[in-house]
Amino acid sequence: MRSLLVVICCLVAFLSNGKNLRIGLFEKDPVKSILVKYNIGRYGLLSESKQLGFFQGKRDKLSVKAYGDKVVVYLNNKKLGSYVWFRMNKQSKLNSLLLFPHNKEKRYRGDIVFYASKGELQVVNEVDLDEYVKGVVKGEVGYGYNKEYYKVQAVISRTYGLFLHKHKEDGFDLCDHTHCQVYKGINYDKNIDQAVNETAGEVIVDSTIGYLNTLFHSNCGGQTVTTDYVWNKKLSNLESIKDTHCRKSSQANWRRTISKDRFVRYLSNKTNRTKEYVLGKKLDFVQGYRKKYYKIGGKKIKLTKIRSYFGLKSTFFSVHDIGEKIIITGRGYGHGVGLCQEGAIAMSKKNYSYKEIIKFYYTGINVIKESERSFYLLF
Ligand SMILES: [Zn+2]
Ligand SMILES: [Zn+2]
Repeated sequence: MRSLLVVICCLVAFLSNGKNLRIGLFEKDPVKSILVKYNIGRYGLLSESKQLGFFQGKRDKLSVKAYGDKVVVYLNNKKLGSYVWFRMNKQSKLNSLLLFPHNKEKRYRGDIVFYASKGELQVVNEVDLDEYVKGVVKGEVGYGYNKEYYKVQAVISRTYGLFLHKHKEDGFDLCDHTHCQVYKGINYDKNIDQAVNETAGEVIVDSTIGYLNTLFHSNCGGQTVTTDYVWNKKLSNLESIKDTHCRKSSQANWRRTISKDRFVRYLSNKTNRTKEYVLGKKLDFVQGYRKKYYKIGGKKIKLTKIRSYFGLKSTFFSVHDIGEKIIITGRGYGHGVGLCQEGAIAMSKKNYSYKEIIKFYYTGINVIKESERSFYLLF
């Protein structure tokens, strides 16, 4: 049933517009029912069995509830029916709807599709690619930055939106939170709007014209790392580079103090040695440049493990043993792979163009129009 549903949804999406993306909404905090209110424009109402009229009055309200694997729909408190899927088709590009997940108002353009699985409601927003990119730049970056930096983020988010479709089996392409990209619906910021429009269709590709995995993080601390320092596999185009641009930014330096007892217990656990053995070793550790492991008594512990256990901001840290306590001094925030956001913001203020910034952090790549990809792929 689920796969049939996915096929139907795909088909309807394909027929409406090939360049749409399907975004699973409210994935972080799923809903069992939702209220929809009129905002702008007329919507056609459609289920698997028939056309159900229109949603167009300023006071129109629709409520959708999940019951098992079906959705029950009420229009202005009157039951419309129970369906496998139910969709609201926009009649013009500027249409928008108000959705109220957990009683909070959210605004979306594009079409909305509802279906259910085991009593949980799935709400999917089928939206034009660049409309999606605007909502992602708003969600991932927020308001208050300059247009050149928004262009960087727009090209990255567009590429990522086309590259990474982790939710095919769920019936959509991407979800709306950090698992994929944070998407917050309609953007009302003029700079973001212009940045997305002025880079329309632009994506980052590698030498095989494949979409780049455009990973980014908050601050690299002065040096980015390759993917094998963080995960298992080394990906090309994401090399370790020296970055001086982010060194004066807010996340450039940090400091943590932890008890020596806790640190020693952790090392003893990880190395299968006694606490006395660990205490007899030198605990100090210096990272002038990025390293992959903390070493103690011939054993290695991956820095990502230490970061995750102690909840540190990055793996770019040094350890200082001062007796009763351990002081950890660190640089940067995030995994450190790919583009450094605070470095990119600093570069955009120094008049670097968005393409120069992208090419500084991602090596051996090109920025091309998505529509030109098929042409390059011929060669
Ligand atoms: Zn996701
Ligand atoms: Zn940096």
